[in-house]
Amino acid sequence: MTPIRPSFFSGLLYPADAGELRSTLLSFLGTPIPRKKAKAITVPHGNTALVGKKMAEIYASIEIPNHVILLGQNHTERGEKFAIYSRGAWQTPLGEVKINEELAVLWMENTPSLRHDELAFFQDPTLEVQLPFLQVLSPKTQIVPLTVMPTTQERCQSLGQGLAKTVQQYPEPILIIISANTDPSDLPCGDTPISILSCALKAVDL
Ligand SMILES: [Zn+2]
Repeated sequence: MTPIRPSFFSGLLYPADAGELRSTLLSFLGTPIPRKKAKAITVPHGNTALVGKKMAEIYASIEIPNHVILLGQNHTERGEKFAIYSRGAWQTPLGEVKINEELAVLWMENTPSLRHDELAFFQDPTLEVQLPFLQVLSPKTQIVPLTVMPTTQERCQSLGQGLAKTVQQYPEPILIIISANTDPSDLPCGDTPISILSCALKAVDL
């Protein structure tokens, strides 16, 4: 059966009503400006009412390709340590975002420690709150979500190398989005994903 991850945080961290959600995000995004191509971005997460504007500033400045890898830290400590959501779709009030299964399989081949696991993503808002922005700005975009628990530098390096290889082998452009709070006054929760990304960037000239 194809897994569909429901929206756990609509009405809590962002509006549950599709029209209200879209108009809120559009007001944050403001007038379109020329967008830059990017290989990777770091975007904060949290309640849209509090950090939505900051998130929108980042999203408004870049081009979003049809393929996006979402990488975040597991906040619930449930499930696999290195979990990939490799099939199906994720739902938000704006509809479904499809998983890019081909890209997920490629990544799993390149990184044997990754496991398909839905529990690791259950009731964790980290990656879910990014989706409405992608849906408003680039409705065709497909995703591959990955959530990780804190780990050793060695393990970050091997995950980063797998990520680098995957992005290189995939025939179309991929944007990596790290969902991370880096504000020291807030609870920082992106060290591991950022470390994996920096290892990936070092492994190849991404
Ligand atoms: Zn967090």
